[in-house]
Amino acid sequence: MAGIYIHIPFCKQACYYCNFHFSTVLSYKEKLVQAIAKELFLRKDFLAHQSIQSIYLGGGTPSILNEAELNLIFETLSKHFDLSEVKEITLEANPDDLHADYLKFLRSTPVNRLSIGIQSFDDTDLHFMNRAHSAIEAKNCVKLAQDAGFNQISIDLIYGIPNMSLARWEDNLAMAFNLGIQHLSSYCLTIEPKTVFGNREAKNTFTPISEEDSEQQFLTLINRGIEAGFEQYEISNFAKDKAYALHNTQYWKGAHYLGVGPGAHSFRNNERSWNIANNQQYMQSLDKGIPPLETEVLSINNQYNEWVMTGLRTIWGLDLEEGEKKFGSNRMEYLHKQWQQNFQLKHLKVENGHIILQAEARFLADGIASKAFMV
Ligand code: SF4
Repeated sequence: MAGIYIHIPFCKQACYYCNFHFSTVLSYKEKLVQAIAKELFLRKDFLAHQSIQSIYLGGGTPSILNEAELNLIFETLSKHFDLSEVKEITLEANPDDLHADYLKFLRSTPVNRLSIGIQSFDDTDLHFMNRAHSAIEAKNCVKLAQDAGFNQISIDLIYGIPNMSLARWEDNLAMAFNLGIQHLSSYCLTIEPKTVFGNREAKNTFTPISEEDSEQQFLTLINRGIEAGFEQYEISNFAKDKAYALHNTQYWKGAHYLGVGPGAHSFRNNERSWNIANNQQYMQSLDKGIPPLETEVLSINNQYNEWVMTGLRTIWGLDLEEGEKKFGSNRMEYLHKQWQQNFQLKHLKVENGHIILQAEARFLADGIASKAFMV
């Protein structure tokens, strides 16, 4: 099992919390997409002999691409990769791009899943975060996508926004679960350095929400999700009728992936590589026919730590037999020793040979995982 990730590093405007790689200068967008096509060609053998199951266009804002640009990407993919086993092709989209005409065009491409960055249905929150869309666009875009024929729709919502009351978060969740979506990803607002919010925090002009409020919003998310028939299959991800995000699930299960575009990461065997996160240097390097990437070999401890971190966050947990095979019995003994207290507190249970984080302890996931890390 393997996947392809394509990073589209452009956005209309910078959201105040965002530390992803993107530019708001769109004048060379076409040239950069040509460079992505070239990188796809140059790295066409990266996943040779593997079954490619998913393709994910993320960013940045992939829905900023026009028809010619998206068509070039799909033509290049189908020319150089065996896509016969691909089940899921996701495009990240922002609500302000999802007009009926554009959606009609998207339906004519191989895209079969949309991941829409709604974040909030409330103009106060959207304005506070400097999102490019309005609450009305957030509310309308899902219906427009459904009318265009999309039946695999995920939306993103952010909680933990300063000044967002619990009642407003409840409204956001009610709105989301009434839209007939199949999937919801929801993350707590985090403040990263070198963002507008990060700068405000450094100057003491940003007051984050308290941990108690954030925890309460997280628990509300879980409860409303369950009531709406959604399964929390990963700490931040909820699916209806097992509509799990295949591409992300592959990441969590350690599958190989090729990442193209500036800043994109790839993973194969025990090697991780990453492209330069600079659009001009990325294009210059590809002009010379050289993918601009660096590679590191992951130590066995790094691989083990990642396995613990990602596995614990999912309903599938940690497969002890797989852990023993990959990382040896010493690390498995260490794991049990470090988590002894969490087993006693019933935060963790062994079920069918897997260590599973129990629902009540989900908000403790990161802390529990880090206890078992090895340096
Ligand atoms: S649209 Fe997405 S990638 Fe672009 S700035 Fe906002 S959060 Fe970041």
